[in-house]
Amino acid sequence: MIKTTDSVGVSSEKPRELRSLNADEVGRVLAEWGHKSYRVTQLLGWLYKKRVCSIDEMSDLPQELRDQLAGAFLLKPLELAKEQRSQDGTVKFLWRLADGELIETVLIPASVGRDGNRSDRHTLCVSSQVGCAYGCKFCASGLMGYKRNLDAYEIVDQVLAVERWQLTKGGEPVKPQGGLVNNIVMMGMGEPLANYGNLTRALEIFNSSWGLNIGARKITVSTSGLAPQIRRLAETPQQYHLAISLHGATDEVRDKIMPVNRKYPIEELISACEVYQQAKGRMIWVEYILIDDVNTGPEQVEALSGLAKRLQCKVNLIPYNPVDGIELKRPSAGTVGQFRDALHHNGVRVTVRTEKGTDIDAACGQLRLKSEKKTDETQAFGQAG
Ligand code: SAH
Ligand code: SF4
Repeated sequence: MIKTTDSVGVSSEKPRELRSLNADEVGRVLAEWGHKSYRVTQLLGWLYKKRVCSIDEMSDLPQELRDQLAGAFLLKPLELAKEQRSQDGTVKFLWRLADGELIETVLIPASVGRDGNRSDRHTLCVSSQVGCAYGCKFCASGLMGYKRNLDAYEIVDQVLAVERWQLTKGGEPVKPQGGLVNNIVMMGMGEPLANYGNLTRALEIFNSSWGLNIGARKITVSTSGLAPQIRRLAETPQQYHLAISLHGATDEVRDKIMPVNRKYPIEELISACEVYQQAKGRMIWVEYILIDDVNTGPEQVEALSGLAKRLQCKVNLIPYNPVDGIELKRPSAGTVGQFRDALHHNGVRVTVRTEKGTDIDAACGQLRLKSEKKTDETQAFGQAG
C-alpha cells in the first residue's frame, strides 16, 4: 500500500472505493503519483461515463497507473440480492453491501406527462444509511434501528447499479452511457442529513459534469427535520430541492410520532426551512403522511395551513402505507379527501401522492425488513435443527 499523509485516504488501513472521491481528490492522488492531469478526466470517464466495474477495464490508462489504483483503492459494485417488479412498472432493488448489510433502491419509471404523452422521467429513490436512528413510529426503517452510514460510493452506485441492471436484464432501452435516471430523491432508507459528509459528496458526483451530470434541481433531499444540517445545506451553492417530512403540524402530535421533534421542534425546523428557501430561492415541499386517528384532525388542518402559508410551500399528502409490526392505520379515502379539501379551502397548494409499487412493499424500508426477518427465521431454524 502506498504511504502518504494526505487526507484522500490512500494510506488508510481500509482502502477507499474510487467512487467515494471527488474530482479534486482524484487529481491530487494522480498528481502525487506523477501522472499528467488529462489522466484524471480519463479515469472519471471510465467511472461515470463508461461505468466500468473493474480497474482492469480502463484500457487507455497506463498499466502502471492501473496497478497503483488497484493497490490503493477498491472498485466494488453493489451486488443484487433481490429485485421485485410492480405491476405499475416500479422496480425495487435490494443490494448486498461488502459487509453483508442490505439496502434498497426504488426505480419509479415514466408516467404520463401533462401533455398526455409518455414522460421520460425516471425517478430513483435512493437510500443514505443502513437502517435509521430516528425511530419515527410509522416507519419500517426506524423500526429496524440504525446500523451504519453509507459511504459515498454506496449512495452513488445505487444509481449506476440500477442503470447497469437495466442494461443487462432488458427493460426499457437506455442510452449507451447510462442516463436512464434523471430524477433522484433521497427518500430511501435512512436520514440523509445525518450522513451529511457522504451525502454531499455523493450529490456532488450526481450533479457534476464529470460525474452523472444530473441537474441539482432534479435532486431532492428529504429530511425528518435536522434543523442545523438544513442550515448547513443552505450554504452550499447547489440548488438541491428540499422536502420536509412533517407528518404533524403541532409539537404535541409531532412529538408522539417523530422523536426528532423533541430535539428540533417545529418552530426551529420551520425557521431553518425559511433560511434554506431564502438562500436557494426554491420552493420546499412538505410531506405529510395521513395516519388514522393520529394526525388527521381539524386542528392539524389549521396548524398545517398556517405553516404552509408561512413557507409558501406545496403540501404532499401520503396516505399511510401499513408496515408489518406497526399498529397504525391508513385513514379512509373519505378522510383523506376531507383533509385535502380543507387545506385547499384554506388556500394551500396540496396534492395527494398517487401510490406506486404497493404490491412490492415499496414503502420506506419494507423490502429490507422482510428479507431480514427471513434471515432471522432461517438462522433460528438452523439453530433449532
Ligand atoms: N429520513 C428521511 C428520508 C427517508 S423516508 C425522511 O424521513 O424524510 C422517505 C419518506 O417516506 C418520508 O417522508 C417518510 O416519512 C415516508 N414514510 C416512511 N414510512 C412510511 C409509511 N409507512 N407510509 C408512508 N410514508 C412513509
Ligand atoms: Fe428515519 Fe425518515 Fe424513517 Fe424517520 S421517516 S425513521 S427519519 S427514515
